[in-house]
Amino acid sequence: MTVIDSHAHLTDERLVDEAAAVVERALAADVEAVVTVGTKLEDSRAAVELANRLPGVFASVGLHPHNADAADEQLFSELRELARQPRVVALGETGLDYFHDNAPRQAQQSAFARHLELARMLDLPVIVHAREADEDVIGILRDAGRGTHGVLHCFTAGRELMDCALDLGWYISFAGMITFPKYMDAELLRAVPGDRILVETDSPYLAPVPYRGKRNEPMHVPLVATRAAELRGEDPAEFAAATVRNARSLYRLAER
Ligand SMILES: [Zn+2]
Repeated sequence: MTVIDSHAHLTDERLVDEAAAVVERALAADVEAVVTVGTKLEDSRAAVELANRLPGVFASVGLHPHNADAADEQLFSELRELARQPRVVALGETGLDYFHDNAPRQAQQSAFARHLELARMLDLPVIVHAREADEDVIGILRDAGRGTHGVLHCFTAGRELMDCALDLGWYISFAGMITFPKYMDAELLRAVPGDRILVETDSPYLAPVPYRGKRNEPMHVPLVATRAAELRGEDPAEFAAATVRNARSLYRLAER
């Protein structure tokens, strides 16, 4: 089974010092590519640097909703510069997180809309984090998201947000929590069309069973793909192959 980890944080302090070994282990486990995702300016720069240095690694640059307070003109102009580099395949992660509320909601909303504008301008997909903010994510996607493409990563939201994203032509990505015994949303997982679904680790977070609670790595993404296929009643290898095609298409990996 070949898989792509559509979302990881190789620049996180728990992974960055051994990023080369982490990527080697992933490649050895038939993970053909890893998209390492920025959450602020510094780790976006570091993500690009890793993508330039390590085979199979691509970068996304952006400002996580937790850090939306740092959004200003200077930051977006630096992100725009970084985004022009050939190994940068997306903007984000951006979005809204009303569960943690680490930054004022107004700041989260305007930074999110700004990422969408920039994405339309640069013709790049957007990686969106949505937590307990379905209604406002829908509002911003419908308004500022027209003409964009992207992915709702680590999907835990409701049906309405999922349908809104699918209507826009976006993708839905699932992480390790679908392997947890208490995962309740298999119905939503089954409702995503096979040509719009992705898998990810969100490393170092959300390690799938049987590694739950440990530091996660991209090498574990086949466990997520296998469980997703099981819950969908599909053949794991065929399902994984579909997610690889989807990730290649969303991030246009063949052009990089
Ligand atoms: Zn993430």
